[in-house]
Amino acid sequence: MAEIRIENLRKQFEDFVAVRDSNFTVKDGEFLALLGPSGCGKTTTLRMIAGLELPSSGAILLDGEDVTFNRASARDIAFVFQLFALYPHMSVRGNVGFPLLSQGVPRKEIRSRVEETARLLQIDHILDHSVSRLAGGDRQRVALGRAIVRRPKCFLMDEPLGTLDAEFRDTMVRELRELHNRIHATTVYVTHDQMEAMAMADKIAVMNHGIIEQFGTPQEIYNCPASMYVADFIGSPPMNFLRFTSSLHRGKRSVRIDGVEVALPAVLEDMPEAELALGIRPEHIRLSDHAPLRGSVYGSEYLGTNQIVTVETGSGMLKARIPANRNFKIGENVGIELDHDKLSLFDCR
Ligand code: ADP
Ligand code: MG
Repeated sequence: MAEIRIENLRKQFEDFVAVRDSNFTVKDGEFLALLGPSGCGKTTTLRMIAGLELPSSGAILLDGEDVTFNRASARDIAFVFQLFALYPHMSVRGNVGFPLLSQGVPRKEIRSRVEETARLLQIDHILDHSVSRLAGGDRQRVALGRAIVRRPKCFLMDEPLGTLDAEFRDTMVRELRELHNRIHATTVYVTHDQMEAMAMADKIAVMNHGIIEQFGTPQEIYNCPASMYVADFIGSPPMNFLRFTSSLHRGKRSVRIDGVEVALPAVLEDMPEAELALGIRPEHIRLSDHAPLRGSVYGSEYLGTNQIVTVETGSGMLKARIPANRNFKIGENVGIELDHDKLSLFDCR
């Protein structure tokens, strides 16, 4: 078990800064998701933690010990690239035991640790099968077994479910989280998929161009996004924005959107005249006949119990997630009610 601490970690490739002075701590037994679009510096961060890439500056501490210049093999970290890369000519037992064999662990111990790992992953009944004939889910479990059999201090996973189809992906997301609940190994999991991060992680670090924009629990990131970038990246559909220009001062209680006064959540800081946006999640909007804020229905998407209705307003498109018990016609004029205590306020400058 281990705590990973990252201090002012920076990586520069010539004059391009891939990771810009990152700071975060993954507590012992915690599951952190590093989340962000392609190219934002997730893999580079992970490779520095693993010891596969030397930072330009900053430090990496494992359980308080500075390992920044330690070789990868001296860090007791398991790096899982893709969970399905197996040795096709070997049995399940051979695949799971391979890391121990190459470490020179005695055969008797390999046998018992492979069997213990197989029980944990519920693949003990297929230990002597060839991996080439396994179904996708079992292949993933074997690959996972190969990563955990060494009992490393922590796991680093780089988009391990990258190329799986949607159905397998959902199953593996559940299994990975259940496995984590059982073994509580400190984990850093890289993904560009916000659903994976929300479903699995204890903490999420949202990255943007080498910078960690927000670090927090999935609930904190969903309910109190620190920036429009984070708000827009999380949630499906993502947060809606209503842009306006105003000067805000302490105690101001409302702003005008499309000529309608909209009550504000507590405004804590004074903001001089600025481009601002109100943010609201689709589930915090209701459509009602009499609300003064108006829009016209642009489209709808039926989801069973719910529907996503897109409404065009004078300040942009809004998506509302509402019960599917009422049909809306395209072009229909509707009233829009916002849950005022759920509004976020962003500075767009
Ligand atoms: P992510 O994993 O989030 O997609 P990466 O960490 O792989 O992003 O890359 C971040 C940025 O750093 C990208 O723009 C990438 O092109 C650049 N980069 C990564 N590795 C190198 C390298 N060895 N040399 C030059 N640029 C690199
Ligand atoms: Mg990557």
